[in-house]
Amino acid sequence: MKNIVLLGATGSIGDSCLNVIRQNKKHFHLFGIGLGGNLDKAQQITQEFNPKHIFVAQPHVDKSHDLLQSYPNILSTEDELQALIQDPSVDIVISAISGFAGLKASYFAIDAGKTILIANKESIVAAGDILMPLAQAKNSEIIPVDSEHNAIHQCFPPHSDLKEISKIMITASGGPFREKTFKELSEVTLQDALKHPTWSMGTKITIDSATLVNKCLELIEAHYLFQIPESQIEVVVHPQSIIHSMVTYIDGSTIAQMSNPNMEVPIANALGLDHRLPIHFEAINFSELNLSFEPIADGREIIFEMAREVCNKRGNLGVIFNASNEIAVDAFTTQKIDFVDIYKVIQRTFDHFACSNVSTLEDIFEYDKQARIQAEKVIKSLH
Ligand code: NDP
Ligand code: MG
Repeated sequence: MKNIVLLGATGSIGDSCLNVIRQNKKHFHLFGIGLGGNLDKAQQITQEFNPKHIFVAQPHVDKSHDLLQSYPNILSTEDELQALIQDPSVDIVISAISGFAGLKASYFAIDAGKTILIANKESIVAAGDILMPLAQAKNSEIIPVDSEHNAIHQCFPPHSDLKEISKIMITASGGPFREKTFKELSEVTLQDALKHPTWSMGTKITIDSATLVNKCLELIEAHYLFQIPESQIEVVVHPQSIIHSMVTYIDGSTIAQMSNPNMEVPIANALGLDHRLPIHFEAINFSELNLSFEPIADGREIIFEMAREVCNKRGNLGVIFNASNEIAVDAFTTQKIDFVDIYKVIQRTFDHFACSNVSTLEDIFEYDKQARIQAEKVIKSLH
């Protein structure tokens, strides 16, 4: 029986994790959950899974909520979050908070040498230079949950010889605007951007998928997780989202991982560690399958150039790229800027900073702060 701490339990990935745990109750115990402020959903989870600890990040939650009757000692400070994650009885930490807000949790888990299932790609993008060496020093196993990275993980098992890889191919659905020219993007609305063709996900990642910034974050994430130069990572649009990524070896063999788009599949793989966990899934109907591949749509190469620069120069560039995107997405979802402005905010913020090394988590937080201030300035300059 493995004790799990699930951070981001009330979100989309949280839901999928709970579905996998529900189907494999004899292997897993939900030791603790973490969330932002959705107490109603947290209450449903606690009624079913009875976790010992609950961490609630938002300070101004309803103090009269029923959940607080059954859990009078709700955790809320950063020290309490750290103690929960680093509790010796915790075997697996699932990092599924959305955005940069998830970084501290990922850091605490890695610093304690835990096995961490990472959905929160922003942690790796912003702080790859800190987290990856720390994981090695603390013997923390990082298992990817992101469907592309979990696919690569399955096609390229840990401790394989990197020299045997010719290239990694990350697939992208292309998002809702795959068939639009860059010029046509100036007409799209928030509602259009929220309609993802193949995946149902949280708001932030859905917008990232529409801009294709999600794929840029994934390119950087793959570079750090698998220690592969960006020159060996290709991104290809595959609208059906059946092949989740591929690895080509130096002998010409390409191994692909496939499933219908369903996050429970990579989560089951990650939670199973070295074993296959049974889950209910919709089998692929191969006789009806029509797989296609195409390049990234015109006009959007510029963000990939920035992402590749992040991989090549590292240091503070990942946190700047990530922070500028988070500010831009927030401004777009609150309808302060247009969809195409997201690209301007990222590029102008990114161009503002010189590359510099980072050596501590504090450095990351400082660059995150500066990049957010700069991105807000760019937003003001747009009007
Ligand atoms: P959601 O928006 O659906 O959920 C976010 C979760 O994080 C919620 O539980 C939310 O709590 C919690 N949360 C937000 N802020 C804080 C905070 N400051 N402290 C603690 N908890 C917080 O996001 P997703 O589940 O879609 O995505 C989560 C992560 O997984 C992201 O990094 C995303 O990129 C990644 N991912 C998601 C995929 C997907 O299919 N959804 C696929 C691959 C990766 P509450 O709602 O209670 O406020
Ligand atoms: Mg993904």
